[in-house]
Amino acid sequence: MKFKELADYFEKIEKTTSRLEITRVLASLFKKLAADEIDKTVYLLQGRVVPLYEKVNFGMAEKMVIRSIVQGLSLENRLFVRRYKKMGDLGKALEAFKQEIRSFEETDLTILKVYDELFRLATAGGDGSQETKINILSNLIRRLDSLSCRYLVRIPQGLLRLGFSDMTVLDAYSWMISGDKSLRWQIEKAYHVRPDLGFIGHLLKKEGVKSLAHIVPRLFTPILMMRAERLSTAEDIIKQIGRCIIEPKYDGFRLQIHYSHKTKEIRIYSRNLEDVSFMYPDIVAGVRREVKAEEIILEGEAIGYEETTNTFLPFQETVQRKRKYDIQETAKKIPLKLFPFELLYVNGKSFIDTRLEERSKELLKHIKNHGDTHRDVLLASPTEITSDPKKVDRLFEDAIAKGLEGIIAKRLDGVYQAGARGWNWIKFKKSYSSKIEDTIDCLIMGYDAGKGKRTNFGIGAFLVGVYDQKNDRYLTTSKIGTGLTDEEWKELYKRAQKYKQAEKPTVYDVDKMMKVDAWVDPHIVVEIKADEITRSSIHTAGRVLKASKSGTAFEVATPGFALRFPRLVRFRDDKRPEETTTLNELRSLFRQQKGG
Ligand code: ATP
Repeated sequence: MKFKELADYFEKIEKTTSRLEITRVLASLFKKLAADEIDKTVYLLQGRVVPLYEKVNFGMAEKMVIRSIVQGLSLENRLFVRRYKKMGDLGKALEAFKQEIRSFEETDLTILKVYDELFRLATAGGDGSQETKINILSNLIRRLDSLSCRYLVRIPQGLLRLGFSDMTVLDAYSWMISGDKSLRWQIEKAYHVRPDLGFIGHLLKKEGVKSLAHIVPRLFTPILMMRAERLSTAEDIIKQIGRCIIEPKYDGFRLQIHYSHKTKEIRIYSRNLEDVSFMYPDIVAGVRREVKAEEIILEGEAIGYEETTNTFLPFQETVQRKRKYDIQETAKKIPLKLFPFELLYVNGKSFIDTRLEERSKELLKHIKNHGDTHRDVLLASPTEITSDPKKVDRLFEDAIAKGLEGIIAKRLDGVYQAGARGWNWIKFKKSYSSKIEDTIDCLIMGYDAGKGKRTNFGIGAFLVGVYDQKNDRYLTTSKIGTGLTDEEWKELYKRAQKYKQAEKPTVYDVDKMMKVDAWVDPHIVVEIKADEITRSSIHTAGRVLKASKSGTAFEVATPGFALRFPRLVRFRDDKRPEETTTLNELRSLFRQQKGG
């Protein structure tokens, strides 16, 4: 397919806000593509050239993109910048110029050609790479038509923002094959094990939907991590899963480790599938020393350790290990220990469908160390098997007394449910003084500039929301103006600047009356503690509207969910936006509220 035709699809998608319509447009596009086109097209639709978990940055600041444009069109910089400032949109300004100055070099480039060039651009490194990048982009600008140019320049700028997430692409794959979303579940299951939309699209085209059943974990492709349900009494846990394994719940970082003993290559992934190996040299060395397997994928929780007192550190201290600089120094100050608790793959064999009891036994076989907390990096977690709620309560109290967060109860015959929150794991955390049993992970959707004391911070309140999985939308649940330290306000402002937008992202459903000074693209996830979930008509999370009697407007039939006394617990850089608390979870937390 020609890139020009793809640009028409970009435009169609940009113009619609209805998720169903976007899904249909995507499905009709996918139908027309060949197997070797669909993967690359899907990456481009997401403004990338590789899957989500691979790190390739275009490395082009706005200035470089402008240089490519003026070079491509042989324009005076001043002339272009003046128009850009007036229009406020780089892509549209370029499109307008292109319409006026038609280049003789315009040719019908294919998607594959444009993809290859953008890939070359993204991977150009070393001396002179800036010039190479500018040359590639300016060449493409010369050779593509005006509408294609509008979208092309948004890709290296990270501004494509077509208003849908991976979930909508999965739906569209189902529509492509069956004309409805009946295959979505099957496709999503495969995606959780191989979270590469391009790979899945290619496979569907080439080998059909049946091939998905054979997808297994692959070394150095991160697997979406399994998540826990929550309950608040030992009785409920035993009622739900019967005899189970109880493990302490450590409050550190969840890490997924991929290791090849053959090559000594190791990659450590965080919850949001980011390769964070460079941050943890002590874990890297520990795995190389203490794990015995040709190839292995395992998961565990890393937590800070205080050698002199032989104790584990609270999260606030462990979190200092999440840094990009002074890594060796901080590693010495706050060494980490890893409690491995999952085995997903070993020596060519997948373990995700094996029952937990066996997975755990197999995992232990591959850890060979001294059994000594001081010398080892990988530590065996004390586990107990029980069906007695009293024992569960005792283990819970023990964990709390040791300063841990609580316990996790795991079904003995549970498989590893990649990417899913299921009843195979149940967390039982310390109850707080509030009515809600757990914290809520929210997406930052927008913010207000600060007034009074906060004028200096640039931010005085921020709008947060939760994820509506069914509709692939974010719905508001609170505007938070208190509960942050001065440092946190400053930090929040700094982060928000990176993703700030004048226009509301199409994936946000926000009440007309809810105003913010700036919108923030879906990137920043924060953990929020609130006293209670209440009802509010201004928030869209869980709100139901009905036509008014006159039929000319809508009125609130059921108000939305709002948070009472919300405060920031921490930034959740390890979570993707789609991993924020879902609307369904918020609804069940509302129902479970003490006295609610
Ligand atoms: P969620 O996965 O529910 O979104 P979260 O990151 O907000 O979780 P929690 O809800 O507190 O965290 O609990 C689940 C997390 O607990 C896991 O992702 C893991 O990082 C951590 N954890 C600590 N100890 C264990 C353990 N023994 N087994 C499994 N997970 C553990």
